[in-house]
Order: sequence, then structure tokens, then C-alpha cells
Amino acid sequence: MRRWIDVRRDPAEAPVVATCAWCRAEIYAGSEVARIDDGGGVVHAGWRERCADEYAAERVYDAVGVIDRNGNVE
Ligand SMILES: [Zn+2]
Repeated sequence: MRRWIDVRRDPAEAPVVATCAWCRAEIYAGSEVARIDDGGGVVHAGWRERCADEYAAERVYDAVGVIDRNGNVE
């Protein structure tokens, strides 16, 4: 397991290697990310980071809610 070593590293010392496609903030080397399949680019995907979930929800789903007996989602 290397992950905990990366998490412990001070982000300020890691080089910026990308920009998050969702929040536009810098992504540092050693960060957990999700790579976008079509357009390239990456989003934050670490613990407590919502960028990957929110980016996916925005791109994949046009409605999220309760489906009724007619198949409509509200
Ligand atoms: Zn982000």
C-alpha cells in the first residue's frame, strides 16, 4: 500500500500537474483523481472531494429524483 504515504505528503510541496475539470482548482501530484474517458482531463476523487461525483452527475444524468408510475422523474 502506497496510498497512505501520498496522503500524508504535504500538498504544498507537490507539483501541480493538472487542473480539475469540475472545480478548476489545481491538482497536485500524489492526489487521488478520476480521469474523464472522452475529453481527457481529470477531476478530484479523493476522500471528501465531491468533484468526481458531481462531474459525473452533471454529465451523465439529466434528472435525479423519484420516478412515478408513468416513468417520469421529478
Ligand atoms: Zn475539483
